[in-house]
Amino acid sequence: MLKVDHLSKKFSADRSVEAVSDVSLEVEQGQFLAVVGRSGSGKSTLLGMIGGINKPTSGTILINSINQWALNDDRHSDFRNQTIGFVFQFASLLPTLRAIDNVALPALIGGSLSYKEAYARAHTLLNHVGLSERFDSFPGQLSGGEQRRVAIARALINSPSVILADEPTADLDQETEEEILNLLLEIHKAFNLTMVVVTHSGSIAERADKVLRMNKGLVESVEVSRSETGAPIGTALKLSANDSEPAPPVSAVETIFQTSNEPSAEEKIRLGEGVERLIGRYVLWLIPILLVAWGINAAVATYERTVLDAKENQRIELEDLAMKGLRADVKNVTDGPGKGYTVTLYLNNTIGPDKPIYVMAPAVRGFVQVGNSWQEVAMKPANSNNPKVLKVTGNQTYDYIIEPDVTGYAQLLPYYMHVRITNDMIVSPSDQPKTDLIERNDSYYVYLKPHGLDDAKILQKMKFPGKPPVWIPMPPH
Ligand code: ADP
Ligand code: MG
Repeated sequence: MLKVDHLSKKFSADRSVEAVSDVSLEVEQGQFLAVVGRSGSGKSTLLGMIGGINKPTSGTILINSINQWALNDDRHSDFRNQTIGFVFQFASLLPTLRAIDNVALPALIGGSLSYKEAYARAHTLLNHVGLSERFDSFPGQLSGGEQRRVAIARALINSPSVILADEPTADLDQETEEEILNLLLEIHKAFNLTMVVVTHSGSIAERADKVLRMNKGLVESVEVSRSETGAPIGTALKLSANDSEPAPPVSAVETIFQTSNEPSAEEKIRLGEGVERLIGRYVLWLIPILLVAWGINAAVATYERTVLDAKENQRIELEDLAMKGLRADVKNVTDGPGKGYTVTLYLNNTIGPDKPIYVMAPAVRGFVQVGNSWQEVAMKPANSNNPKVLKVTGNQTYDYIIEPDVTGYAQLLPYYMHVRITNDMIVSPSDQPKTDLIERNDSYYVYLKPHGLDDAKILQKMKFPGKPPVWIPMPPH
């Protein structure tokens, strides 16, 4: 529950006007409060104080009975990170991070989840906000609405109990705005969150449990919704007469469609006559010919279907072999030799030793993220006489040397390089395949600690149980 008591904010001592003046309100856990009011009325200032961004001049805020402003700095930032999800006016995503990294980041920096957990949850949340296809996209490649969805997923990563959103749709077109507001409402219900949204949208305010209207820093009114009181929240919420668009002239539109699509009575008659004439003239000899042709066609079609089905079954079996039967990933990364790192990949045949899987010409390449793109770096097998075909019967490892010699790499995690290793394989159950082969393209992502960096420096930015590791794996994504 959120309880605000006689809250005020003055930005400077000599200014007589308070940005927020003596505001008191209560929002129950799971309730949705909309904050409305003219520009400059103190909405953002109020939200900032609740969100732990700007300190009240006087008054108290209790969230789940905790007064965050009475905590020391460390505990306050933990509290903020764990309890409050903030969706800002603009999406404010980090441009050099992919969508999934942006979402996982608050959990990684705060150390609230392990890497695996953070990415697994980011995955789930991006699915939840409808971005299952866009995990790897950078913010610049996403539309305004999609960016907002990422920002909402990011706000949820630490399972907050309160979501604060300050005009979350200010820069979006009306249709996208509606989608995003619906998403927020859906999430508010699905996660039973307490939600405070500053909005200009009359339609979202209408759906709130409570509406706080502010004017010159003061509470002008608090309206409680229909579901709370039994009384309609009413037209008082309409922000201006312009909010309700006039209905489109539907009847005129319908008329146009009717006249253009429907054939005229005259056309109907002519078409009908044509068909009748055709059948009348040819029907006697046309029907047997058609039947024969259909018979042949059906036989050919059945035969083709059988062949195609057999091929399809083979493809499915191959796909199962290559995808489920064979596991592959990065097993370990160690420092050296020299400027390089030794990357150990594993291939694991999960079917069993009596069913070998042949992996042909595995092409392993390394990339480091620089800005929004991947820059290829030197990567080669540690052993120069690597066989061209690998026979995988159990769990086998292969070493590669990567030399990520780049400057200005993107730091998704402070100081660490974001490395992508691609592994393109041709997989077959036979060592001399004919048609029974299939391509598999993997990407593995890891973070690598650059050489010659002081561990103490890294530890200032990130929490690790001990020494910062040479590499940090990420689950497949
Ligand atoms: P709203 O979000 O309703 O538009 P704000 O909370 O942003 O209103 O602003 C309320 C008042 O506080 C305004 O008069 C604004 O100029 C003032 N204000 C907001 N932030 C600051 C600041 N950082 N320093 C000084 N004055 C500020
Ligand atoms: Mg504002």
